[in-house]
Formats: sequence, C-alpha cells, structure tokens
Amino acid sequence: MTTRNLTAQHAAPPKVSFVSLGCPKALVDSERIITRLRAEGYEVSRHHAGADVVVVNTCGFLNSAQSESLAAIGEALNENGKVIVTGCMGAEPEKITSIYPGVLAVTGPQQYKTVIDAVHRAVVPRPDPFLDLLPPEGIKLTPRHYAYLKISEGCNNHCTFCIIPKLRGRLVSRPAADVLREAQRLVAAGVKELLVISQDTSAYGSDIKYAASEWNGREMRARFFDIAEALGDLGIWIRLHYVYPYPQVDEVIELMTQGKILPYLDIPFQHAAEGVLRRMRRPAAREKTLQRIASWRQACPELTIRSTFIVGFPGETETDYQSLLDWLDCAELDRVGCFRYEPVEGAVANGLAPAVPDEVKQERWHRLMQHQQAISARRLKRRVGTRQPVIIDELCNSDSSRPPAGAMILAKGRSRADAPEIDGSVFVASRRPLRVGELATVKIERADAYDLHGTVVGY
Ligand code: SF4
Repeated sequence: MTTRNLTAQHAAPPKVSFVSLGCPKALVDSERIITRLRAEGYEVSRHHAGADVVVVNTCGFLNSAQSESLAAIGEALNENGKVIVTGCMGAEPEKITSIYPGVLAVTGPQQYKTVIDAVHRAVVPRPDPFLDLLPPEGIKLTPRHYAYLKISEGCNNHCTFCIIPKLRGRLVSRPAADVLREAQRLVAAGVKELLVISQDTSAYGSDIKYAASEWNGREMRARFFDIAEALGDLGIWIRLHYVYPYPQVDEVIELMTQGKILPYLDIPFQHAAEGVLRRMRRPAAREKTLQRIASWRQACPELTIRSTFIVGFPGETETDYQSLLDWLDCAELDRVGCFRYEPVEGAVANGLAPAVPDEVKQERWHRLMQHQQAISARRLKRRVGTRQPVIIDELCNSDSSRPPAGAMILAKGRSRADAPEIDGSVFVASRRPLRVGELATVKIERADAYDLHGTVVGY
C-alpha cells in the first residue's frame, strides 16, 4: 500500500450534521437516511460548525412546525452554510427557497435516494470497510430498548384539516414479511418495545389488497390484525399508534386480552360533535364510538386509550365544543393531547366555515386541558395499590448501578399504559440495581396529575 493510499484511507471521514424535526414517522425517515450515510462512510457530527454539510429533516404539518423548520434551516445556514433540506416541507420547495435561496438542495419526504445524492454532491463519501460496519438493525435515534416500526407511508384519507396526503402521498404499505424482518432484527439488537406507527395504522395493507408475503415458511397477509398478532409473537412490548376508530380495532382488543400486545390504543378522535367531525371528514358516530369504547373496556379492563383533539376548527360553535367536553366525560379517556386549529396553507377546512378567533381557540384549549386533567388524574389514581410491569428508561441518581448499602436507587420508567415522549412516567425506587431497558414489577404507591410513583417489588 502506498503512502498516498494510507493517507487517503485514514483521512478524517466526511461529517454530516443532522437535524430531525417532527413526528415519529419523520424520525424513522431520519434513521433510514443516517443508516445509509453511515454505511457509506460518513460520520454524524453533533454540531453544525465543523461539519461538511447539514441535513435538516423538516416538518410541515402545522404552521408552527413550518416556522420551527425554517428557523432550523436559518440556524444551519448561519452556523455552517452548506444545507440540504428534506422532509414534509420539502414537498413545497419554493416555501424554503424563497426565504433561503442559498440551500444546496430541497427534497420531499421519503426521497431517501435524492437526499443521499445531494449529500454526495456536497461532500464525496469515503467508505472504509473496516470502520463502517453497521449494526444489522440500522442506526436508531431512540434509546436502545425501544424503537419505532413504520408499517406504511402516506395516507388515503381526506381529513380536511390535514395536508399530509399532499405532502407524503397515498398509502403505501410495506409487505408483512418486510416489517417482521425489521422487527426481528430490532429484537435481536436488544429492543424491548416496538411502537407501531404509520399515518393510519388500521388501514395497513388496504392499498396492496392485503397481499401475503412469505414469513418463516408461511404466508403472512398484510393485514392490521395479522401483523399485530405476528408482532405479538416476538415476546416484547408491542404498542399501537395512530389507529383509526374503525371496526377492525375490535379484533386487536382480543390480542390485548391475551397479553400478546400491550393493552394500549392511540386513536386520534379529533372531535366528538357530529357536525365538526363531518366537516373534518372523520368517522362521525359519536354514540357508536362511545359504545365501542365501552365494549373494548369490558373485554379488556386494562386498556389505556390515548387520543388527540382539535379545538377551534372552522365553524366550531360553543355548543359543538361543549358536546366535546360532555363526550370526554362519558369516554373517560386515559390520556389526551389537544391542538388549537391552525389554518395550514392548502388545508380544505380553511374554506369550509368561518374561522374561530384565536383568543376563543386559546380559551377552549385551556378549558379542555383542565377538564381532561381531572378525568386523567381519576383514571391514574385507580392504579394506586396495583403491581405494574415497568420498563426502565433512565436512572435518576448517579452511579445507580452500585448504591451504598441501604440507599435507594431512583429511576424513571413507563408502565404498559405509557408511550415514550407523549404519556406520563412511573418514578420508581429500588433497593437493587436497575438497568435501563429492564422490566421491573413496581408496586404503585402514589399518583399525581400525570405520573405514578412506586417501589420495585420484583425483577
Ligand atoms: S388520517 Fe387524516 S389526519 Fe391522519 S394523515 Fe391521513 S388525512 Fe391526515
């Protein structure tokens, strides 16, 4: 080997600084891009300054998310100067280039190859087969013990407040075998909890007519129930997100009662007033949904339901709003997130009815949050005195692996009812050392508005 070759091989690898904004679905896109870049010999830098190029994965769902994305692009340009933009906002490149004409490239969501090509143009890759060994599960931006599993891209619904189908295209489901292979790789890498995501999880497979693919010597259909059941066989926590309130959900409740998947459903109901739901083009069956919730709970009393709502939707009257609060009283959901309606450019809803004034939206948002807080706190209190399996996310006191004799270890974890980032936590005390990612049995001693507190009683 010549000196010149040696120098080339050991020169510092090109560095890419990465900003990932938006929802878990965008995070999975970032993971795919970073995995590809790492495989090609790029290093991921923690800072913009000193990196060879910056990639900003944007979110364009709401106006506020677009502002945050634009600010991140501005910051990257200031600190580095060489910036590639991708993600949801990239579907409308002129929104970016009109403000920042200096960006190197703008690509849309899921355009992995185009982003990689743009990085190649900015700084050439320098692969090194000895240094670039990748973990088989790819690069994950989540902690090692949980991961998001994206089962489809895009969406075939037409919710009038949403421009996601315009940004991310129509539903494209992954073959079941492909999803299960990824899940198996993640489990082999130590993942203990998989969060199943998509834009509309219950629609999984409808675009490919539920086509079967071969998995472990048998035919596996691309169907919501089948994939949930097969994931349940992996023996780790499986949590379902972004489920549409359609009848096929009834089937997966059975898997929850059998303990195959977590008794947890994240269903964005968005509203409860029939007129608003109709204008939103969401399933409008107020009473039927309540009946369905009641029957799910009867079949699976452990079930936790999380949801999100929009207040201040165009034309929402005080009567509509009040009927939403009444519905929340009846539904007794465990966790609720609430958004004030934002008139995102291009959303059909903006022209359907007069806008609700901002101060009214704000006041309704506050009232709903307060109203629901009491319901959530009541539901949480019912768990005091029970024993819950808790997955440990974080150790709270330093050097928790070797506590002095008699000292308690403090850790933060989540029960089966808590998804990472969006739900509450379980704060635990333990006499024995704990490891991040392990499952401990915790006796719940106290509840506050969002979190539980308890002591480890089993490992
Ligand atoms: S289900 Fe509705 S809100 Fe969700 S991505 Fe599809 S269109 Fe948007």
